[in-house]
Amino acid sequence: MSFDVAAIRAEFPILSRQVNGKPLIYLDTAASAQKPRAVIEAMVSAMENTYSNVHRGLHTLANETTELFEAARKTIADFIHAQPGEVVFTKGATEAINLVASGLGADLKPGDEILLTGMEHHANIVPWHFLRERQGVVLKFVPVLDDGQLDLEAIPALITSRTRVVAFTHMSNVLGTVNPVRQITDMAHAAGALVLVDGCQAVAHLQVDVTALDVDFYVFSAHKLYGPTGIGVLYGKAERLAALRPYQGGGEMIGSVSLDAITYADPPHRFEAGTPAIIEAIGFGAAVNWLRGQDRAAIARHEDSLYQRAREGLAGQNWLRVIGEAPGKGAILSFTMEGAHAHDVAQILDRYGVAVRAGTHCAEPLMTRFGVTSSARASFGLYNTADEVDAFVDSLIKTHAFFA
Ligand code: PMP
Repeated sequence: MSFDVAAIRAEFPILSRQVNGKPLIYLDTAASAQKPRAVIEAMVSAMENTYSNVHRGLHTLANETTELFEAARKTIADFIHAQPGEVVFTKGATEAINLVASGLGADLKPGDEILLTGMEHHANIVPWHFLRERQGVVLKFVPVLDDGQLDLEAIPALITSRTRVVAFTHMSNVLGTVNPVRQITDMAHAAGALVLVDGCQAVAHLQVDVTALDVDFYVFSAHKLYGPTGIGVLYGKAERLAALRPYQGGGEMIGSVSLDAITYADPPHRFEAGTPAIIEAIGFGAAVNWLRGQDRAAIARHEDSLYQRAREGLAGQNWLRVIGEAPGKGAILSFTMEGAHAHDVAQILDRYGVAVRAGTHCAEPLMTRFGVTSSARASFGLYNTADEVDAFVDSLIKTHAFFA
């Protein structure tokens, strides 16, 4: 398989549009990725040709849609080396983490500990704060070093006999740091703690094998993986899902209901109360199928080359502060510009057709750690080109001229 960025771009209709009279340069893939035609067409086809609610039906459309829906689950399970029964559809990574925190939380006692890291997205902080507020669970955080790596040496002292869960990101959405999942997982398991990994960013850039990583839970959203919004995945080891309390109650998740008793369906349906995001699940499956048809190692090399090119293009610009320099990091460039607010930088770049994100990136503790209130972030996806990187560098230098 060869990697041809022009051919890939041709599959993403939105990339041919203009913004402010300039060709769109989309450098916000870490927030949400654009969608290839394969995904759009799978969703349109599901609505035009087979649409029905799933599972409960006995008619043809219900069966066809159920088959597509469950096929998507199987595709996603294969993609991460899991079994279909270990893949729960959720609204996204955020809901998946809330599901686990609420399910495990019911069994936690005051003084039980949860170990997070200083580089988590709010989605992997706030649900655990609920347990701190409501149940007296103690939150601890692995510090982040100056270059954006986790302070791995600090972990053994932070894991105690009270640690119940270790929850951390596979790849930081701000720093791009890729954390050593298996190493941290082994440390957590040695102490009897469960492991939840936030794979939101990693899954789009790395080839993830949840079985080899040995994690208990792994979560991600489809929309960062070139799929639709409104759907994501909670992977849980079969025995972990079987032991987890249900999250929401309603149709689909029950075995039987009477006036004085209920029984639950088996996982994964136990955690999928109500009508699921059917069209989105089908689009999610199409996105994963599409990605699996690409040379993922070549994509990773391409994305890294874009990041390195941006760094080289900006070398020597002493007004630029890059946040996150961990070795082996992903293609995410977070930065501040001396004398300029990140929001202004993003707005001026938009005039040049360049889309970057600015703000806290839902990671306020990390911003505080690096002594900033916000940063701008350019994130590269498989469809970006070297020419786009050069145009971004050029636009950023011109943007700086506004403030100099
Ligand atoms: N974790 C990380 C690392 C993320 O980048 C994001 C999205 N910015 C999330 C969690 C939350 O994902 P979602 O909003 O799709 O639930």
